[in-house]
Amino acid sequence: MRLLSLSPSSPSSFPASFSSLPKTATASVYGCHCGGDYFGQLGDGRCATVLEPSSASSRFEIQLKGAGQTPFSRGFDGRAALRGCVREMLGSEGLAGLGVPTQRVLCIVGTGEVIDRPWYDPSSSSAPSKSKFPPNHMIKERAAVLTRFASSFLRFGHFELHHLRSERELLRQLIAHAVEVEFPELGGLPWDAQIEGILEGAIDRQAFLVAQWLRVGYVEGNMNSDNTSLSGGTLDLGPFSFMERYDRDFQPFTSDRSGMFAYANQPRALAVSLQVFARALLSELEGGGGDALLGEVAVRFGERFREHYLEVRRAKLGLALWRGAEDESLWRELEALLQDTRGGVDWTVFWRLLSVVPNEQLGRLSLADIRDAFYADDDGGGMPLEEMISRENAEGWAAWLAKYGERVVDEGGAGRQQMLRANPAVIPRNWMMRDAYGAASGDPGGKAEDGDFGPCEELMRVLEDPYIGVEEQEGQVDERWFQRTPKEYVG
Ligand code: AMP
Ligand code: MG
Ligand code: MG
Repeated sequence: MRLLSLSPSSPSSFPASFSSLPKTATASVYGCHCGGDYFGQLGDGRCATVLEPSSASSRFEIQLKGAGQTPFSRGFDGRAALRGCVREMLGSEGLAGLGVPTQRVLCIVGTGEVIDRPWYDPSSSSAPSKSKFPPNHMIKERAAVLTRFASSFLRFGHFELHHLRSERELLRQLIAHAVEVEFPELGGLPWDAQIEGILEGAIDRQAFLVAQWLRVGYVEGNMNSDNTSLSGGTLDLGPFSFMERYDRDFQPFTSDRSGMFAYANQPRALAVSLQVFARALLSELEGGGGDALLGEVAVRFGERFREHYLEVRRAKLGLALWRGAEDESLWRELEALLQDTRGGVDWTVFWRLLSVVPNEQLGRLSLADIRDAFYADDDGGGMPLEEMISRENAEGWAAWLAKYGERVVDEGGAGRQQMLRANPAVIPRNWMMRDAYGAASGDPGGKAEDGDFGPCEELMRVLEDPYIGVEEQEGQVDERWFQRTPKEYVG
């Protein structure tokens, strides 16, 4: 509310304002490119823009999601399930707290209706068991409307659709609109310079975004051109997850069997999306030269990504200066250990534990300092961790920790302070979100008042400042928020 400077005229009008579309609402159609294939028209069948407030310094587009059909619904109902809305809110607001560019969620209003949806657990990292849930199993879901905002909801897929349909006039209007809402500083420039400026801006924003996703372990899941925004923020949080146990191949979206959108493949997937966008955009250059520019997109994205990712890694490790090859190998050795350790290692807990080790102790870092990040400990029953993860893993960790300690001490610990802002203490884990939206949606067959938003509100409070550690929150919140995923939720 504060960001948007909104004041609802009276509290009683609030639910109505955010659950039904005014006559002035607009929806915009976009296409989708997945991997190398064009899927054709896809959205937006259930989101519509209701307001575009602006001031001298900022501008927002406010959308309702799930408020009913639009001209682009393709026969679908235009509705959204409460569970998915709560999950989208927790993901978006969680990212905002983490300092990652994202759409924001203003509110969710239940409509009181119950809708049929194919069974799907949005937070399950494994495909639904066939015996338990036959392919066309439908379940009852409570319906809701989610209100979200961003500087704009322009997607690469908007440009792609008009380009592939040869709708040149619409494409040119869209480009002019993009300058107005996303790159006003390009406003007075010649047409071709505006196009090149948009492309350069989009490349840099996406490179920054994906480096931030990697920092916090966010996996978008379905990174087609339709889910890639010109604002450079995370958008449409659907089959996303935060990576809990480190795995470079982690992919929460079970439909992506190739793993092309897996955690570590996200930079490559974004380069493909940018290529699709650039092809559409550059087709409108008046002075030519589009082919040459198109050929450079992947290279330029790679350069920008490496710069942003280097900053991320430097901050995570707490280094003041990046020493090139020496630090590259420190990083690569760490990745290999995280990937290969028996039982797995929690990405968030590992980094947080490393961040809170007092500087005086860096010279004698040991496995005990990071023990709580190791999932093998779940089955340990008090056994020494060295025995749980194999002698080889344990030796590898001891060697890495010694090398890391030495590296930081050598620099006088000058870069250590930034670790507490680069390595969060808490992320929205699947179990937290599942508990929250489970309580909120209650029993769809029961009364609407059954929904309990308490767990959701508590989680939202914790996610507001995820860099505050368990020490500072002593006694105020459940310590489990700060720990690796509890055993009963791992599966
Ligand atoms: P998603 O996978 O949720 O991003 O959906 C892809 C596109 O399908 C969205 O842009 C929507 O326009 C459309 N869509 C999804 N669900 C519905 C629905 N229930 N009714 C109408 N359109 C939908
Ligand atoms: Mg989408
Ligand atoms: Mg969507």
